[in-house]
Amino acid sequence: MVITFPTNTDETIRAIRGVIGRDIYMNITVTTSGCSLCGYDPVNNASKDPFCSGCGGLYWIPITEDISESGHVRWYPFDEARYEHGGAVFDGDCIVTIAYTSGNLENVRRANYFLVDGMKMTMDKYTLRGVPQLNRIRIFLREDGR
Ligand SMILES: [Zn+2]
Repeated sequence: MVITFPTNTDETIRAIRGVIGRDIYMNITVTTSGCSLCGYDPVNNASKDPFCSGCGGLYWIPITEDISESGHVRWYPFDEARYEHGGAVFDGDCIVTIAYTSGNLENVRRANYFLVDGMKMTMDKYTLRGVPQLNRIRIFLREDGR
């Protein structure tokens, strides 16, 4: 089944996404915390112990959060192939479309990785979509480690 978003109103798109969308997660580094196992070397902005087992010598340990957002998820092969000069274009393993908000855009840009249907994914690129106004973010994801 090919699902096409109508382009009339933002509300319609949001309503549809509420029905067919599902939660995806964006892993965001919210802050960093100093390692509790070693000491801080302010000159090098790193651990005094380059072999520390807690931080690997970095001293700063990232604290991350999985932020959920309702999205429209499509896995490869996609319903609609995209063709350009030279044939079909591989656009990653998964495309997720979420609402365009400044908060979402910030999270997409900052995300360490994405969790979609239990799979850890890394971002290839994102595009902003919508007529006449931008109203959604399309995120092209690749299975982690490929
Ligand atoms: Zn440490």
